[in-house]
Amino acid sequence: MNEKKFQKLNISPKLLLGAGPSNPNPEVLEAMTQPVVGHLDPTFLKVMDDVHEMLKIAFQTSNPMTLPLSGTGTAGMEACILNLVEPQDTVLGIENGYFGYRMIEVAKRSRATIIPLSFEWGQPMDLEVIEKTLQDNPNINIVLCVHAETSTGVLNPIKEITELAHKYDALIVADTVTSLGGVDLQIDNWNIDLSYSVTQKCLGCPPGLSPVTVSKASIEKMERRSVPPNTWYYDLLLLQKTYWGAEQRTYHHTAPITMIYGLREGLRLLVEEGIEKRIQKHTNNCNALRKGLEIMGLEMLVPEGHNISSLTTVKIPEQINDGQLRSELLKNHSIEISAGLGNLGGKVWRIGLMGENSKIENVFRFLEALGVELKAQGMNVSAKEAISQLS
Ligand SMILES: *Cc1c(COP(=O)(O)O)cnc(C)c1O
Repeated sequence: MNEKKFQKLNISPKLLLGAGPSNPNPEVLEAMTQPVVGHLDPTFLKVMDDVHEMLKIAFQTSNPMTLPLSGTGTAGMEACILNLVEPQDTVLGIENGYFGYRMIEVAKRSRATIIPLSFEWGQPMDLEVIEKTLQDNPNINIVLCVHAETSTGVLNPIKEITELAHKYDALIVADTVTSLGGVDLQIDNWNIDLSYSVTQKCLGCPPGLSPVTVSKASIEKMERRSVPPNTWYYDLLLLQKTYWGAEQRTYHHTAPITMIYGLREGLRLLVEEGIEKRIQKHTNNCNALRKGLEIMGLEMLVPEGHNISSLTTVKIPEQINDGQLRSELLKNHSIEISAGLGNLGGKVWRIGLMGENSKIENVFRFLEALGVELKAQGMNVSAKEAISQLS
């Protein structure tokens, strides 16, 4: 056989302004080059303790069961839903986008009764309709909802939806994938029962871990289960009991050591900056991006007040070729943005300013590159005016 020679890996850097991953903080990547030690090594146990403590700060919770699962956000979604939901439960799955829809698809695997409640993608949810649905279906005991719907750029009123769920005696599972570390999120003050997120969006880390936080009420429901959840690797109580929350930690599965170093550094930077400052920074840079795009004549999908500050959806001008523009942005400017998902495909671009990437320099760099590529497709625009007004 002819032996093929493989070169050493050499990837040129890109500015990741899509729906995730975002660029990790350089300090995070540096932390990930620290020596790999055993997952029960005393130095690593200390790293775990730090991660646990700082994750609670990030989620703004005192939940003792707050830990990073091995896997991406969808692993967290599946773990939370499959641990909480039993076949005899009735689940209200509220969706106004792709990830809300995915929560419902995952919940179906639990064989519970699922009541889907859909709102138009890109539009805010109607709290009155949600309340009416809860009223009309007194069996509902679990509600699923996405906080920041990355597929459309809509920020859902998770605090109010949580209040409604509790008013009708249901627990809530909140997807906080695109909000943790970038958008105001208060697990304890808002009484969110169960939530999962990721490392690669607003926490400035690469993909690979899914931080979750589990309230006392959720733990009690899990402890009352008549049969264990149909997952061993992601059995949250087991993982907590044997490894993350154990007095004497033992083997459950090998922790992804290097990923957890990275998360520790991402969280350390978040805590050092301060959560309020971080949130404000995301708001300011998002507002600058929206304003800049509007000056250039583009139109937002989501009205101000309902938009996510870490992800902006902008309508693609009629005469512009979507795929061509995104590939030219990547090829000529090394900038990645995301296409629309589902029925928003071809209609919007999704532009992320998440974590480390939420910087005014990135807003300018993006507007400038976009201006060049819109012009290349015959649109009469320039980013100059927008950038000078924002400066
Ligand atoms: C990205 C995302 C997910 C999925 O996370 P993965 O890391 O891709 O598995 C889930 N929910 C929302 C809202 C997301 O933005």
